[in-house]
Amino acid sequence: MAAANPRGKALAMSHHAFENVTRYFQKAAKVLKLDPKESRLLLTPRRELRVECNVRMDDGSVATFIGFRVQHDNSRGPYKGGLRFHPTVDIDDVRALASLMTWKTALVGVPFGGAKGGISVDTTALSTIELERLTRKFTQNIHEIIGDTSDIPAPDVNTNGQVMAWIMDEYAKLHGFHPGVVTGKPVDLFGSEGREEATGRGVGIMAFKLLGRMGRKPQESRVAIQGFGNVGSHCAKYMHESEFKIVAISDVSGAYFDKRGLNIPDMLRYYLDHNLTLQGYAGAERIANKDLLELDVELLIPAAIGHVITAENASRIKAPIIIEAANEPIEPDADQLLHSRGTCILPDVLANAGGVTVSYFEWVQNLQYYKWGLNRVRQELEAVISRAFDDVWQLSQEKRVSLRTAAYMIAVSRVHKATAASGSF
Ligand code: NAD
Repeated sequence: MAAANPRGKALAMSHHAFENVTRYFQKAAKVLKLDPKESRLLLTPRRELRVECNVRMDDGSVATFIGFRVQHDNSRGPYKGGLRFHPTVDIDDVRALASLMTWKTALVGVPFGGAKGGISVDTTALSTIELERLTRKFTQNIHEIIGDTSDIPAPDVNTNGQVMAWIMDEYAKLHGFHPGVVTGKPVDLFGSEGREEATGRGVGIMAFKLLGRMGRKPQESRVAIQGFGNVGSHCAKYMHESEFKIVAISDVSGAYFDKRGLNIPDMLRYYLDHNLTLQGYAGAERIANKDLLELDVELLIPAAIGHVITAENASRIKAPIIIEAANEPIEPDADQLLHSRGTCILPDVLANAGGVTVSYFEWVQNLQYYKWGLNRVRQELEAVISRAFDDVWQLSQEKRVSLRTAAYMIAVSRVHKATAASGSF
């Protein structure tokens, strides 16, 4: 049985996902002194679509799956956000992730709004052709509300370039040639060089900048990374090349530790040769997955799933710096506890924004029928996310607020200004 993702990714989302994002928004809105009516307008999603997808299975039966697309805000540009295929996908998760995209695109200053979508499905139980039929059916059901000037989906958990290619092809049957309707496409089919590595690379670039601001050196910084998928592996590669000492890495198969520093090139080779997993890797000591989070390291990078640092384990986290490469890895209660203890947290809304930044470059290339080289993509990525990082750092110093609150303040005020300028307030 082949599926879009052979790793059978696990994912945990809270049942209060939207409430969690709203808490961060409210904190920023308070400092910005926003009117409660304006806050309500900014927080409320513009459209929520729920669709039934009936698919003919290989055995001749028909299976029904439920899909969603939430369009949160488009005051700064077309809606933008990934599609997640996972059994835990529900409207609350999708709504939370859609609003996170609104703040993320505003923070890095790309001309998009925020959206998210998904299907509640276990992709490991589907054959490739079943997955293709499901993707095409979902596209038929949402095609009226997506488009290269209205709403541009991208890959997220359990979706990839192949899924985006099917969406582009199905959309073309109904609307003609529009490669910019989705991003994260294969490089051979209107995708961009450097998109696949962009999120992990962006995390690495920001880790480097953050350490510089804190007067620490990469060579003297031990790093633990949870997750060795798209984001974790590219982040490890970049950080290894930047001379950080990565002592622990985990994936669903377990955690791998070496206090002298892991052999990252060897682990990357193993991961690529073993169907994108570290299962069976023997080049390092094995430790329990949950212990990785509590290691005595300078930098902890959760790059796997949401809600792994909670009020329960936060007090045992030793790392003075946490970089949220995954979306929502820290629960708001844990965030508050860690912040009060002086832990420096680089928030998801900034830390993993490299992905949407290069998605923007892909869209620009599609609209211009022009292809950039890898060096140009890397240079422009670094310029965009470095500017966003510097803005957040400076505001957090000026206002004496956390990096997360500073990031939300910048993002919310940009969306607020665009909404006001368009005449909505
Ligand atoms: P991925 O599926 O490629 O990788 C996930 C990794 O996490 C895998 O190595 C998997 O084995 C591991 N994992 C799963 N459960 C685990 C657990 N309990 N303990 C340890 N490891 C576990 O996914 P990805 O694209 O790398 O995304 C990771 C996170 O980053 C997600 O939260 C995603 O929403 C976020 N993100 C991704 C992008 C992107 O461009 N890919 C952009 C922004 C945010």
